[in-house]
Amino acid sequence: MAYVKGLICRECGREYPANPIHVCEFCFGPLEVNYDYDKIASVISRERIEKGPCSIWRYKDLLPVEEEDVIDLSAGFSPLQKADNLARELGLKELYLKNDTVNPTYSFKDRVTSVALSKAREFGYEAVACASTGNLANSVSAHAAKANFKAYVFIPANLEQGKIISSAIYQPTLVGVEGSYDDVNRLCSEIANEFNWAFVNINVRPYYAEGSKTLGFETAEQLGWKAPDHVVVPIASGSLLTKIYKGLKEFHKVGLIDKPLTRISGAQAEKCSPVATAFKNNVYDIKPVKPNTIAKSLAIGNPADGYYALKAVNESGGVVETVTEEEIVEGIKLLARTEGIFAETAGGVTVGTLKKLAESGKIKKDEVTVAYITGAGLKTLEAVEKSVISPIVISPTIASFKEKVLR
Ligand SMILES: *Cc1c(COP(=O)(O)O)cnc(C)c1O
Ligand SMILES: [Zn+2]
Repeated sequence: MAYVKGLICRECGREYPANPIHVCEFCFGPLEVNYDYDKIASVISRERIEKGPCSIWRYKDLLPVEEEDVIDLSAGFSPLQKADNLARELGLKELYLKNDTVNPTYSFKDRVTSVALSKAREFGYEAVACASTGNLANSVSAHAAKANFKAYVFIPANLEQGKIISSAIYQPTLVGVEGSYDDVNRLCSEIANEFNWAFVNINVRPYYAEGSKTLGFETAEQLGWKAPDHVVVPIASGSLLTKIYKGLKEFHKVGLIDKPLTRISGAQAEKCSPVATAFKNNVYDIKPVKPNTIAKSLAIGNPADGYYALKAVNESGGVVETVTEEEIVEGIKLLARTEGIFAETAGGVTVGTLKKLAESGKIKKDEVTVAYITGAGLKTLEAVEKSVISPIVISPTIASFKEKVLR
């Protein structure tokens, strides 16, 4: 049994029943899920959560799904890895990496998909769909296969091979649109109006987005039921950052942790940095850009939740920083060399930004800091293939080994 009161407009506060809708009819503001926090506080406890499954569903009381039977490939409860080697290089005292590369389809998107598709089934949909920069496509394809949904998956036609194959293998209807993600998204909004499908990031977006809160919940639980001092989060649409912040605040609201004083910082690629630009100019008007970065999973030029992400950053005392294309690759390599985690380009953006913020003192030496590594490197091999070492090729003899390797 969930504790959802309905949906509420983030702008004007008008309330709606919990239907598959996402915009306010009065002010066109985005809708979000509204919970009965008093009721949740009366049932939830650390012990109750600790007895739950090792997945996002241990936080079911704070998720918008009613049915017991959820669509679950076991997303979430990923490791919070203490990163002492990287911390030493960056001059930080206590650094952690939330390693979401280990999810069922190797990115944090499994969290949002598991919630969205569970809700779609509750609503009685037979088909699901998404507009994706790649990882959501993989995740929706996999979860739809498991749940026997028809799936219509829309991606920019020029995605990385690894991202395309990692959707195709599950055999959805896979559509490559000639254009950017923003073109894909615009087209999908039109399609969503005509077809009775659960578009995970359009008509069921309010429910989908709630899945990202679990990254905030897990971080606090894994730190021993306390919020970190500073987090670094990659920004595409801005939903993830917004929801990590919301997750930490909710944990406090229902009595699980002390009031979080976490500073929320955002990471973008310089070549797709609409939120960072607004942050630097100290304005809330986010100007759409045309992305041109190897960090394709973050390449959203017109971020739906950019405004709310910026608000979370400013309200919490964080910053938004950018990295160059070279710094993205360096970030991927730095993370792999120091901590043994192979991240995709979004991870390069996050680690590159983390490095900049540590070096400039914007992350203070003694702040307990968490960086979110949201996707795995095997999907974006082309980003690093030219800048990694090559094997030393030898003949199968000890002499050749000594000559070529030990010389
Ligand atoms: C989608 C995605 C993000 C950012 O998600 P938003 O909620 O759209 O900001 C970050 N990292 C990876 C790997 C992603 O696929
Ligand atoms: Zn409204």
